[in-house]
Amino acid sequence: MNIAIIGAGPAGLMAAQVLSEAGYAPTVFDAKPSVARKFLQAGRGGLNLTHSEEFSLFASRYFEAQPFLQTTLENFTPNEIRLWARNLGFETFVGSSGKVYPIDKKSAPLLRAWVRQLKMNNTQFKMKHRFVAWSKDIWQFETPDGLKDYSFDAVILALGGASWPQLGSTGAWTTILKDKGLNISTLKPANMGFNVNYSKVFKEKFSGTPLKNIELSFTDINGNIQSKLGELLVSEYGVEGSLIYTYSKFMRELIEQNSPLTVYLDLFPHRSESKLKQQLSTSRGKQSLSAFWKRLGLSGVKASLLREVLEKESLSKPELVAKTLKKFPLTLESYRPIEEAISTAGGLKFENLDEKLMLKNFPNVFCVGEMLDWEAPTGGYLLTGVMGQGKQASESLLKLLQS
Ligand SMILES: Cc1cc2nc3c(=O)[nH]c(=O)nc-3n(C[C@H](O)[C@H](O)[C@H](O)COP(=O)(O)OP(=O)(O)OC[C@H]3O[C@@H](n4cnc5c(N)ncnc54)[C@H](O)[C@@H]3O)c2cc1C
Repeated sequence: MNIAIIGAGPAGLMAAQVLSEAGYAPTVFDAKPSVARKFLQAGRGGLNLTHSEEFSLFASRYFEAQPFLQTTLENFTPNEIRLWARNLGFETFVGSSGKVYPIDKKSAPLLRAWVRQLKMNNTQFKMKHRFVAWSKDIWQFETPDGLKDYSFDAVILALGGASWPQLGSTGAWTTILKDKGLNISTLKPANMGFNVNYSKVFKEKFSGTPLKNIELSFTDINGNIQSKLGELLVSEYGVEGSLIYTYSKFMRELIEQNSPLTVYLDLFPHRSESKLKQQLSTSRGKQSLSAFWKRLGLSGVKASLLREVLEKESLSKPELVAKTLKKFPLTLESYRPIEEAISTAGGLKFENLDEKLMLKNFPNVFCVGEMLDWEAPTGGYLLTGVMGQGKQASESLLKLLQS
């Protein structure tokens, strides 16, 4: 049985694991010289495998794709991904935010153990094999030795999205699959930053500074008010970080409808506007405005943000300052390009696939992972989702082979 998995990211490797544990010897092809470069990169910022929240809440993080992914997630729950890591020798822990990490938060040791196990179980690897064409039963790869044609009994495509293309996933597969008559929605950035027109002075001073203990709110495309406490990061171009990523889908949709988009920050979510006004109204005596503000807890990036939107003479008006601190307008001009995004929205539409994740018009060809048309915020939902799909496709293939 000649089974190919094209794409050696976490989705493809999980597909290989299921097949090789069942006694098959799949071959994993990848364009890059080594496997799972994005997974490795993910470990540099702390590998967030999954989330510990209650399952129905967990499943709701996949937005409109939830109905298509429900079976996948039930079949590969957050507990199962933790068990998977444990079986490779890596315990996990739940961080204060509910996110789940391996103890050392790294991906390299986990990946090494995973690949070692796959090889022991007879998974074959063919690196530097870029999938470039598919016609009838011939799958063509560009290799250091020129173009090579292969034919397979079954294929699992796990080609990723198009973010961080230098790590291997470029989205070039969209052309090949479109030529086969498959429906693909435009690849877009997900979990990306947004551009903000701060002053040059502000950017120079605060790029890389976290803005902690704030609440972000805005009205989404369906008229629902979205708001969440958290923190974001001021970057050289604008804003990024977990609070922004939570809402990147909604904010992208609003910007596409009508840009720029103004969202609001409550810079003191635990103090009421009247309390702030009262505090700002007390006499500052001979103190400078900055020293007075500092005594009230208003300094650094928060104080400088105020100066970005209020004229100098307005800064000593307690009512206006309190109002602005509670509803600071942050104008997002546009979103950052897909190349910089953590993940990809859009991709191969679920309507092309059956419940086995097999292409309806191409028996024994399955598609899994970030190449499919879904998105989720950061928080471990991405890895749980892609690995769950790899498992689901391989288990479906096994059932077909055994029937
Ligand atoms: C900086 C960063 C941090 C992240 N942190 C986290 C995190 O902490 N938690 C989390 O859940 N997610 C995180 N993610 C997202 C997560 O890494 C991805 O969602 C996941 O890797 C997608 O898995 P995949 O297997 O579908 O695709 P990929 O990991 O992109 O793998 C696809 C593979 O296919 C190969 N390929 C593509 N085209 C071809 C072709 N034509 N021929 C042959 N091979 C090809 C690529 O080289 C690649 O190896 C992070 C992403 C980034 C960029």
